[in-house]
Amino acid sequence: MNVEQVIDNLKKRFPNESEYHQAVEEVLHSIKEVYNAHPEFDKQNIIERICIPERIFTFRISWVDDKGNVQVNMAYRIQHNNAIGPYKGGMRFHASVCPSILKFLAFEQTFKNALTTLPMGGAKGGSDFNPKGKSNAEVMRFCQAFMVELWHHIGPNTDIPAGDIGVGGREVAYMYGMYKKLARENTGTFTGKGIEFGGSLIRPEATGYGNIYFLMNMLKRKGITDLKGQVVAISGSGNVATYTAEKVIELGGKVITMSDSNGYIFDPNGIDSEKLAYILDLKNLYRGRIKEYADKYPGVKYVEGGRPWAEKCTIALPSATQNELNGDDAAILVKNGCMAVSEGANMPSTPEAVEVFLKNKILYGPGKAANAGGVSVSGLEMSQNSLRYSWSKEEVDAKLKDIMSAIHESCVKYGTEADGFVNYVNGANIAGFMKVAKAMMAQGVL
Ligand code: NDP
Repeated sequence: MNVEQVIDNLKKRFPNESEYHQAVEEVLHSIKEVYNAHPEFDKQNIIERICIPERIFTFRISWVDDKGNVQVNMAYRIQHNNAIGPYKGGMRFHASVCPSILKFLAFEQTFKNALTTLPMGGAKGGSDFNPKGKSNAEVMRFCQAFMVELWHHIGPNTDIPAGDIGVGGREVAYMYGMYKKLARENTGTFTGKGIEFGGSLIRPEATGYGNIYFLMNMLKRKGITDLKGQVVAISGSGNVATYTAEKVIELGGKVITMSDSNGYIFDPNGIDSEKLAYILDLKNLYRGRIKEYADKYPGVKYVEGGRPWAEKCTIALPSATQNELNGDDAAILVKNGCMAVSEGANMPSTPEAVEVFLKNKILYGPGKAANAGGVSVSGLEMSQNSLRYSWSKEEVDAKLKDIMSAIHESCVKYGTEADGFVNYVNGANIAGFMKVAKAMMAQGVL
């Protein structure tokens, strides 16, 4: 494989899809040596088949807002690869949603799911619908209209969606309710469901908790076993960010920042459990803005339009969105003594930022490994639904910890360099790739 040629070819065939090109490019650079050592892969053109989604559904959603106006949105479901199991991946509702963003997410998801040790293929979906400022009734009508179109293409053994940016428990419940009504079955096609109707304990917490479990595995290699004395910068204040903060606090770390798309707060005294409970209510009950935290607590700085990476920290946990941490941010983090970055979000660090982390040999856990806890507990939710049974909080948490340790081990296995440094980017990409590629080889040209 000639990486440049493959990328050039993809750029020509799928122009204007920069996020998709970025995600593919990173993986191809990581796997090229392993790929080239297996000529049988190239004979079967595994590389193009693993980069290009198997199927993309694109459709229009029409719905009526509270004023009686008819609104139109675009929606998509990308079924990227089902070599190792049914398609699995979240739904994103955000004004920026477009094929490029969903294709990058579905591509990443395929490798991430392969790392989880569970049998799940990769998918992603969503819409350019912006839930901000919409009433509950509007969100419900939109979710229902979405399902009227998509329900034919998903199912418990074919494609199981979940949440992502803009899609939390409320949206999953509305979509699942409509799906169930149309499909006339109750087998749990959707994860992240409410606990009363087939959801798994720990699922809301799983991505954030999982990221910290992954971080602790990385730190353990340096002889660090808790977060006491660590100063932690977190971005975002949604699902992933809040449960990440919860686990950091539990392990003794000091969380100094959180953010939303308008700006960030810096709390020099640290965000404790009580303050975090306020953020959870602010976000989930009142759908408020992070700025309100600075209005409530004295001594807190709010920076409109800013990102938290210039605040001095020892650990950074980007947990908002893609490309939210660039090369300059990375340089400042390293200069300020940051020794570990673990990604709750998908592809939050730009290629330039990743280069800075790797060059300085700090601990760097890429999203597809570090944030795989969410989809892992989704996989456990699928198992519980199939068994018609539910596991206790402790059981699910223990399984999550084991899975994150196994993912860490795979990264170490495939990513350890001659001097002992673990390149977790290469480790995650190669481990995920080998599993999916072997499954594709075994199943023939499809
Ligand atoms: P939420 O919608 O719950 O929260 C997203 C947070 O990020 C909000 O604080 C939001 O601010 C902020 N944000 C979104 N877009 C931007 C932007 N363009 N610039 C700055 N801030 C932004 O989503 P999640 O917490 O579920 O997802 C966060 C990240 O984690 C995403 O990258 C997602 O793909 C990834 N992820 C999520 C998983 C899950 O289980 N939910 C699993 C694995 C990965 P605002 O409120 O202003 O929009």
